[in-house]
Parts: sequence; C-alpha cells; structure tokens
Amino acid sequence: MSHFDQDAVKEKYLAERDKRLVPGRTDIRDLTRDEHFARFRADPFTPRIERGPVTDDVDVTIIGGGIAGVLAGVQLRKAGVERIRILDVAGGVGGTWYWNRYPGVMCDVESYIYMPMLEEMDYVPTRRYAYGEEIRLHVQAIAERFDLETDALFHTGVTCAEWDDNAARWRVQTDRGDDFTARYYVLAVGLLNLMKLPAIPGMEDFAGPSFHTARWDYGVTGGGPDEPLDKLQGKVVGIIGTGATGIQALPPVAAAADHVYVFQRTPSAIGARGNRPTPPDFAQTLKPGWQRERMDNFQMQMLGKPVELDMTDDGWTQHYAKAQHAPRWKGMTFEEYMHRAEELDFAIMEEHRQRVDELVKDPAKAAILKPYYRYICKRPCFHDEYLDAYNRPNVTLVDCPTGIERVTPQGPVVNGEQFELDVIVYGTGFEAELTPLPRRAGHEIVGRGGIKLSEKWPDNAATLFGMMSRGFPNMFIMPTPAGQSVVTVNYTHLALVGADFVGGAVRILEERGVKSFEVSADAEDEWTNKVMESFTDPSHVMGACTPSRLNNEGDPGSINPRNGNWGRGFGDFFGYRDLLEQWVANGECEGLELS
Ligand code: NDP
Repeated sequence: MSHFDQDAVKEKYLAERDKRLVPGRTDIRDLTRDEHFARFRADPFTPRIERGPVTDDVDVTIIGGGIAGVLAGVQLRKAGVERIRILDVAGGVGGTWYWNRYPGVMCDVESYIYMPMLEEMDYVPTRRYAYGEEIRLHVQAIAERFDLETDALFHTGVTCAEWDDNAARWRVQTDRGDDFTARYYVLAVGLLNLMKLPAIPGMEDFAGPSFHTARWDYGVTGGGPDEPLDKLQGKVVGIIGTGATGIQALPPVAAAADHVYVFQRTPSAIGARGNRPTPPDFAQTLKPGWQRERMDNFQMQMLGKPVELDMTDDGWTQHYAKAQHAPRWKGMTFEEYMHRAEELDFAIMEEHRQRVDELVKDPAKAAILKPYYRYICKRPCFHDEYLDAYNRPNVTLVDCPTGIERVTPQGPVVNGEQFELDVIVYGTGFEAELTPLPRRAGHEIVGRGGIKLSEKWPDNAATLFGMMSRGFPNMFIMPTPAGQSVVTVNYTHLALVGADFVGGAVRILEERGVKSFEVSADAEDEWTNKVMESFTDPSHVMGACTPSRLNNEGDPGSINPRNGNWGRGFGDFFGYRDLLEQWVANGECEGLELS
C-alpha cells in the first residue's frame, strides 16, 4: 500500500473502521457509582487523614487542584485574594499528574511548553519530555510558593454547591461533613477526569487483582513510576488498551513480568519520541518571555499559521499540524484540497506503518500493529521503546478489534481463546471532553433561584467566553475544549489564559466593590450563537474515521454545535486570548450584570 490510490486507501480504512464499529463498543461500567468496582476509585497514593468538618467562610473555592486549579489560585493570589480554598478528591495537588503514576508515565507535549511558569519558578525541566513525577512535583512547588495548600481540603468531594443570594455567597457542602461559604466559585474539574472502564461481561469475576492505570497499584506490582516492578516477577499480566497510556506502561511492565499479553482494539500511530536530557546550556540561551513565545510558536503551528522557526520541532508540529492544515493554493477547488489533504495524511501514516516494519521483527505482529486510518482520526502517540517491546519473547499481542468478549475468573476471552492472567491492567482511558460539565464536576451546582447546572446545561454549554454561565453568579469555569472556548494540544496554554482571566476579573470586581456578578442574557446568547455559527459538522471527514474520542466514537454527526469552539476548527486561540486580555484591560466588565 505504498502508493496513494485514493479509492483503495479509502476502502481499506473503511473496512478497518467497520470492524470496530460494533454494538456495545462504548458500553462502560460507571465508575462514579459502580459499587463492585468502588475500589478502582480509591486513592492508592496518600493515606486519608481523619479531620473534623470545616464551617468557615473563604474568599474563593477552587474545585480541582490540577494545573488549571493551581494556576487560577496563583492569579487570584496575585490579585490580592487572601483565603483561597482548593478542594479535591485527590490527596494533594497535581490533578491528572496526581492520579496517573503508572510506570513510564510521561507527558508527550514538550516539557518546556507544557510545564507552567518555568521562568517565574526559575525551573528548567530535566528532559525534553518530562516524566509524570517531575510535573507533579512542579505543580506542587507552585502551590507551595503561592501558599495554596494551607486552606486546601484534600480527599474531599463536594456534594452540593448552592448560591445564596442574600449572603452573596456560595454554600459548599462536602462528603466530609464540611459546610462552608465562599464569595467566588471556580470550577477546574478537569477534562479527562473520569476513568473509563469498559463493561465486559464477567469482569467482576476475575480472580486476580485488577486496576485502572489512573490508580496504579504498586502494592500489586512493586516498584514505582521509575523503579523496577519487582513484584511482577513470575506473574502474567494483561494490559487492556494501547492509547497514550498503554503504550507508555508496556515497556516497564514487560521488563518485569514473566509474560505480558497486550489486548489491542485499535493500533495507535506511534511516532518517534526523541526524548533527551535538557542540554546543560539550555537555560543560558533563554531570554525573558521565552516560555510564552515558545508556547505561542507551537500553537501557531497547530493552527496552521506560518512561523520562521519551529521551536518544538516534534511529531506534533511535523505531523499533526501538517495533517490538520494541508497547504492550499489559489484557484484550488475543494475537491483538490481534500485530495491533497488525504494524500498528505496517507504519506504520514505510511511513515508510521513503515516505522512498525523497521522496529518489529515478527511480520505477523507488525501487521497487527499497523494503524489503518487517517492520522487526524485518533490522538497520535509517540514512543521510542513501545514497538521494540514486541521483540521480547515475553510479550504477546492479542488482536481484538471488537473488544474483549468476556472475562472469566482466569482472565479475558478473545475469539473463544482463554488467556490466563495473574493481573489485569485497564489502560482504557477516560470519559471524553464531550462529557457534560455537570457530570465531570460530580456534584450538584445550584444557582440563583434554585436553577441547577445539570438542568440548564444537560449536554450543551451556554456561556460567556466558555467561562461564566447565566444564573450562576460569582462562578467561573476554567476553559476547556468542547466548552465554548478553544482547543489546544497543550492544555497548559489554555489554562494560563483562563487563570489570567479569573485573576483579572476578580481584581476588577473587588476594586469596584461588586458583591455579585452575573452574565447578562444578551452576552451569553451572543457568545453561544457565535460558537454555533462557526461550528462545522465534522461528519464529512471524521465519519470515515476509525471510532475514537476525536470523532465521538464513530458518531461525529451528533456532536452538539453548542459544544464547539470560538472560531472555526480548533478555534481562534490568539483571538480568544486577545479578547480576554482586552476585557480585563478595559475593566468595564462588559457582558456582566453587577450588584
Ligand atoms: P485512550 O482512550 O486513548 O485509550 C484507551 C485504550 O483502551 C484504547 O486503546 C481503547 O481502544 C482501549 N479499550 C477501551 N475499551 C476497550 C475494550 N472493551 N476492549 C479492548 N480495548 C479497549 O486512553 P489513554 O489513557 O491511553 O489516553 C487518554 C488521553 O489521556 C489521551 O488521549 C491523552 O489526551 C491523555 N494522555 C496524555 C498523555 C501525554 O503524554 N500527554 C499520556 C497519557 C494519556 P480503542 O482505541 O479501540 O478505543
């Protein structure tokens, strides 16, 4: 398939898609309430400390202590806010980096643009792509520097947050009996915060230990994120899932276990990683403002805008940005453009398929590992050791395009074949960003006059800037893709924009002596309409894709236009940032009703 024959390629891609578009594909065990798998939610990293209920009044409560929540806290602190309470079900700050401590966990976005506030923290990441623990400790260092842990409540889940108009405060109740008030409520609950566990018949009968990668059980495997998994010696392990997580976890598990079975539903496109230590002279080459410039340079390319120098120069910019933005020239018809885009995408995918042939010695395994879909269909992955792991005699690849048939006490069954395992690792990902905010928040949010966010916003957003919603006074939502803001591969970049806005807005509101603000109906309608107007139905291209998070699991046509972005495609990141910066600079609180 080395030559681009458009019809043949399409046919092959559609056949591979159809293999995977099977009933039950998206069925999950709802881990937010599943009693049998309640242990999957437990925090294996920090012991829970008993404490009495808290009943005080704070200035701001931030729900979620991940990168977005901590950055919001920093900007609020800089705006002069004294009592800031971060609240999280985790045992500390870090968000995704708190929970995801599986062996090999790494961020595949370059550390110099992903790790926030490097200049201010005077920190230089140790490697081009940082391991999870380095990122978690960095987020923690920021929280400590800005004193965001003193008033924090960890291992605490909000049960209900309700706006009290008379007191002009949010009343927050939690599962630890807390009942306190706050003037401002900031939702920074995360994008991929709910673990996804497929519903596989019989899975509760498995006799051995099993866990999700976002709660790695080192009690079972021994070792640590960068230490050998010594308790896996003599054990047979199954890894279900070959997304960004599964591919990072395989090499360390394969190095420790007697045998590993990898259950693959869809192969990921695995590009080269090229990780390396940060050069010793890196810091000396940097000028003030370098990190924002580098983040902007990356984002420019992701939006298809020209840059003089590709500062990141990795698979994201070389492949993903190019596949998303095939070159156009004057006079080109739509059909010519689509043909060119497909051809370019095909060349990128061929490069990935060739890489499999080069790195995997067994042609039978290589054939199964080759991805047949367009590069833009599925989040790409990058790794230098993953494919090589299949050359080990103790790693078996199990091809299961329709998923796992069932699980018995011994282990999974695929195509009638029983695999006998000691341990099952579910690297099966997270509920996608299209999961409605009220579900991701996990608690009832009751605004003015008893209006519930889950009722106003059952499955579609209604906001100003993707950050405030009418009926919910003094409440901010940290911006997220699919939430009426903009998309970034580098989520930190968007979190910084959101945090600046929250800090700036609160400073202005406090200076003006405002007790409460609410988004005006006109402002919300205007913003939401703009989002809807710029929405283009992705079905034409994404409908032909293998099912994935990026095409709503094979159903792109049912994406609600209200859950789109500000601006076409990925949205207008720079226009969005300018708009928010201008709003703060004006200090006029346009679009808000103040009292
Ligand atoms: P993904 O959703 O990407 O992958 C889940 C895997 O589980 C897929 O291979 C999926 O197959 C498979 N799977 C799901 N259900 C079944 C089933 N019933 N039987 C067999 N296989 C099944 O989750 P990840 O945790 O890998 O990644 C989630 C996201 O987290 C990424 O997209 C990324 O945004 C982020 N992430 C980022 C990292 C980074 O370095 N920045 C690292 C890790 C994660 P199928 O493909 O067919 O759906």
